[in-house]
Amino acid sequence: MPVPDPTKPSHNEVLKDAIPTLAGNLAATMADPEADRFSVDDTQFLKFHGAYQQDDRDLRKTGKKFMMMIRGRIPGGVMTSQQYITFDDLATEYGNNTLRLTTRQSIQFHGVLLHGLGPLIKKINESLLSTLAACGDVNRNITASPTPAYTKARELVYQDSVRVADALNPQTKAYHSIWIDGQQLNLEDEENINFVDPLYGKTYLPRKFKISFVTPPSNDMDVFTNDLGYIAITDGDELLGYNVTIGGGMGRSHNQQATFPRLADVVGFIPADKAVAIAKAALTIHRDHGDRSNRKHARLKYVVAEKGLEWIRAELERRAEITIEDARPYEFTSTGDLYGWHRAVDGKLFLTSYVEMGRIKDNEGRAQKTAFRQVAEQFPHVEFRLSANQNVIIANVPESDRSGITDLLATHGVRVDNQASILHSASMACPSLPTCGLGLAESERMLPALIDRIEKLGGELGLGGEEIIIRSTGCPNGCARPYMAEMAFVGKAPGRYQFWLGGNASGTRLNRVYKEVIKEAEIEAELTPLFKRYKAERTEGERFGDFAARVFWPEQDTDAAAEAANN
Ligand code: SF4
Repeated sequence: MPVPDPTKPSHNEVLKDAIPTLAGNLAATMADPEADRFSVDDTQFLKFHGAYQQDDRDLRKTGKKFMMMIRGRIPGGVMTSQQYITFDDLATEYGNNTLRLTTRQSIQFHGVLLHGLGPLIKKINESLLSTLAACGDVNRNITASPTPAYTKARELVYQDSVRVADALNPQTKAYHSIWIDGQQLNLEDEENINFVDPLYGKTYLPRKFKISFVTPPSNDMDVFTNDLGYIAITDGDELLGYNVTIGGGMGRSHNQQATFPRLADVVGFIPADKAVAIAKAALTIHRDHGDRSNRKHARLKYVVAEKGLEWIRAELERRAEITIEDARPYEFTSTGDLYGWHRAVDGKLFLTSYVEMGRIKDNEGRAQKTAFRQVAEQFPHVEFRLSANQNVIIANVPESDRSGITDLLATHGVRVDNQASILHSASMACPSLPTCGLGLAESERMLPALIDRIEKLGGELGLGGEEIIIRSTGCPNGCARPYMAEMAFVGKAPGRYQFWLGGNASGTRLNRVYKEVIKEAEIEAELTPLFKRYKAERTEGERFGDFAARVFWPEQDTDAAAEAANN
């Protein structure tokens, strides 16, 4: 791949500069009854509106069938039951009759034809949610801990996440014009040519920007994988403020050493009322210092890695006009979800329902899509919360509804206890084939059967019942956060994966490449000696990821981010 000229802006930068409203010719194309696709340049604008143009890769041999992926913008992943019903309707009417949960607490629709895009996005907006900035070079869907189990401060943290999300919304009127009014903006109009977003400027960010709010002890957000993170510091139910983290990110490219996954650094503590100020400061650092010539090197993490933490801290303080205090102590103990029924701190109940590979669908014997739909219809006061581990939390449930929801789910084959085996319930995969244009290998369609095989092998070797966090992605972009997993498979080519080991259970350590390429069919042969050695040499209670990190990379910092925070 040619190295981009560092003196020249990338093509995406040229496009944004030419049409700063981000309107492209999207509305004009949708008004054409013959059109089945957008132009290549317009697909870049489309992302800012929350949609990707894709084609069904299973059908490529017989020609390209274009279809759209649309991603909702659902701050903190919190939906009313009515909003959930709307999304369920839209998946049935316009998509492939499935709802795909994402690792950023959102829902994606797959398989939508071009002329379904307009009504689908309009109806999402009518439900008071949006798709604006769900993709594109802007602040993406902000994630926030969905589990109401630990402290009442979780609600204040959620409200802060919504305030930050609102403050970072792009201001272009193109979104409303296209999707609500069905109008093409006049690209020759001076006002549109000279539009400058008050926060983002004329050319927005060099790349995407991700923010997460997390409430310890659960690191269910994988906060260190975000450009900007807020670790809630609480005293009982009181929210004291946040430890701010900066410069995390998963994406990398195969065979390009200059690209790498990175854990965010902990910068220090801020009071909660400075959350918006620090977000604007971090975002504008990215806007002003990110690489605009090479999109593979454009994330904020490279600015942080190259300029250093002291520079970043000083720049944040200057832009936000605050003094950042020393980080306060905190502890993360897990990244996973609490499956089954639990009591929230307000006395209500919540149920975490396992969604295999994040795909809500109806299978023979297990009709999870229908089951969730009926819960939303028959228990309209409950909330649907999407977890960053691609599961659904049905929250705000009074004790009196517990058995009714349990029974309703059971009639559709959805259990509330023992929902999945220990390895399945700790796993995640990105969608990859057949929808994602970047997929180099199978992921969502591959991982369930692979986990069955690994589970069988573990059982035979006396490791049954051991949790191992296993993730897969179809390419190195890392949508399922594979570089935090204890064991990960990152697609390189059909049936071939890069093999990573050594993440931990609290989401505070990156894993490493254990083997550059492994064929899917050879995974058991590779794992057999590893599992045998683990069984023989593990210390008491040692997890597989900790064992791999200790044995294969003993020089590695064990827990860099957490140590920095606790100093
Ligand atoms: Fe597509 Fe790669 Fe993301 Fe998977 S990790 S969904 S293959 S971009």
